[in-house]
Amino acid sequence: MIRYALLCDQDHEFDSWFDHSSAFERLQKAALIECPHCGSQNIRKALMSPQVSSRRANKPSQDHQPIAKSADKNLQKLQREAVELARKIRDHVQKHADNVGEKFASEARKIHFKEVEPHNIYGKATQDEVNELVEDGIDIAPLPDLPEDKN
Ligand SMILES: [Zn+2]
Repeated sequence: MIRYALLCDQDHEFDSWFDHSSAFERLQKAALIECPHCGSQNIRKALMSPQVSSRRANKPSQDHQPIAKSADKNLQKLQREAVELARKIRDHVQKHADNVGEKFASEARKIHFKEVEPHNIYGKATQDEVNELVEDGIDIAPLPDLPEDKN
């Protein structure tokens, strides 16, 4: 079995399995390959090296599993990186800003309306408070949650 990345004349991408490389040409000439997105039969190979399946290929749909696995690995890597970045943001904020806890919204307002000296703060706010701050044009940024913060 061989997998080709294909493109239709509307540039929809999809891929399809073929018994062997000449099967694609044959089916293409006979207009037996259809774009699953728009039904176009004007199909060409995308510029991508074909992947040959090393598994026994009596059920082609099952051969998509290794792709899903590698995608998961990428996702896990991204999630680890996101947590790391979140930690960096938190560390930075904790070093350079005052924790005002649940008074965040009122403190942010005081700073915005120059009732107090400008300084960096962080704390907690409800979604309603956040919405009101944003509506009032007060510059705030959400802080990421860290997994170990979850109670
Ligand atoms: Zn299409």
